[in-house]
Amino acid sequence: MVSELEFDVLVVGAGPAGSGAGKGAAENGARTLVIDRKKEIGTPVQCGEVVGLSLLEMTDLKIPPSAICGRQNFTRFVVSRKFVVDNRSPYWRSATVERKVFDKHLAMQAALSGASVQADCRLMSAELDGDDVRSVVLRWRGKDVKVEPKVVIAADGVHSTMGAIQSRPPLEKDGIARGIEFEMVSKKRVPPCMQIFIEPEIGLGYGWIIPKGPYRANVGLGLVGRSESRRDFLTDWISEHPVVSQYFDPDKILEVKAGDAPVPGFDGGPVVGNVLYAGDAAGQTLAFVGEGIMPSYICGKVAGRVAALSFRNKGPDLRAYDDEVRSEIGEEMALGSDLRDALVLIWSLPELSDDERSMVSGMLMNELLTEDDMSMLGSLPDEKGMLAIAKQRAKGSGRPISIRRL
Ligand SMILES: Cc1cc2nc3c(=O)[nH]c(=O)nc-3n(C[C@H](O)[C@H](O)[C@H](O)COP(=O)(O)OP(=O)(O)OC[C@H]3O[C@@H](n4cnc5c(N)ncnc54)[C@H](O)[C@@H]3O)c2cc1C
Repeated sequence: MVSELEFDVLVVGAGPAGSGAGKGAAENGARTLVIDRKKEIGTPVQCGEVVGLSLLEMTDLKIPPSAICGRQNFTRFVVSRKFVVDNRSPYWRSATVERKVFDKHLAMQAALSGASVQADCRLMSAELDGDDVRSVVLRWRGKDVKVEPKVVIAADGVHSTMGAIQSRPPLEKDGIARGIEFEMVSKKRVPPCMQIFIEPEIGLGYGWIIPKGPYRANVGLGLVGRSESRRDFLTDWISEHPVVSQYFDPDKILEVKAGDAPVPGFDGGPVVGNVLYAGDAAGQTLAFVGEGIMPSYICGKVAGRVAALSFRNKGPDLRAYDDEVRSEIGEEMALGSDLRDALVLIWSLPELSDDERSMVSGMLMNELLTEDDMSMLGSLPDEKGMLAIAKQRAKGSGRPISIRRL
């Protein structure tokens, strides 16, 4: 009977944050249970599956060959359907993973570290004492089971069950990107880079092509503040786009992936009572692009470690989580938040046309704008002038960035 078992740490969710937390807690000696309501961890996929190599290098992770399906040495920005920026800086190198395989691999690492891992096990409710969780009810093997963990790590995604139980406020409208994506077969070889599309047709947010091999890619959109049908929007976008339609027809779709990505900006490591929030449940993404796989794993692992180490003292002192997350990944996350805030500002300025917003956003994402530029957005040069400035800045930066007309 599970209710007779005792766990120090209950981790809700076995995505990257939960598996990182399970590993962090178990390898530091805590009796750890990781649960996920999915019957198969990693499925269904709701992700573009791209991992920034600079963040990956901050971890102890080796992606197993079976989980890698692409490596990209650069990122291409297609701006306003007019300009192409190829950015070969190390920051923009990436790998594409097969998340069905990768997430299972991460959960396996948690299990190998000593955590109990249970798929098809769902958090249903919790008994609270103030902010503290005293016990939880899990639906496990068809039965309701009561467990009394000392600490809970809520790694249960953007629409967190634990967050609802603790009445955490929902994200603002511009704090969520509504994602939709098709995994598609291409008509011809796709360029060996991640492509990001910034344009008036999308508005705040962006489109992407993420290769999963020479003739296969995730093609998708992250839409912020829009409410139309995502699937229709993506189908039309692919069919009508002068670049995307060269490679893809909407009649060759292998998988449909949809979900919400939190992009509220970095708020460290939130702790409510004896609950540590990690990953999407804590809004721990690189907020200007919604990249969350590696940030979630890194923050989750810190949460697990802090939870476990707290038992070595007199009682759980979980405040270290916020500090440790900030020292481990705070700089990268803060940069992502600053860029996100600047993008939101750009798309709210009435004096800019949508074309200008796209141009400025493209320059911003490639760090070709200065703070002075941001204060002079009301008096931008014309398109030719903007292009000349962007080229000059790219050259002056010493970074491997090339810009050309489409
Ligand atoms: C369309 C889209 C594209 C994206 N593309 C990328 C990308 O290319 N690269 C990137 O880095 N990031 C991307 N992201 C973001 C990335 O997918 C997330 O940031 C990442 O998965 C967060 O990991 P997590 O572990 O916090 O949450 P999740 O991966 O969402 O895992 C949460 C887990 O909790 C489980 N759960 C929820 N409620 C309960 C419950 N009550 N009981 C038990 N289990 C529960 C769920 O089943 C789930 O498995 C994308 C997001 C979207 C929506």
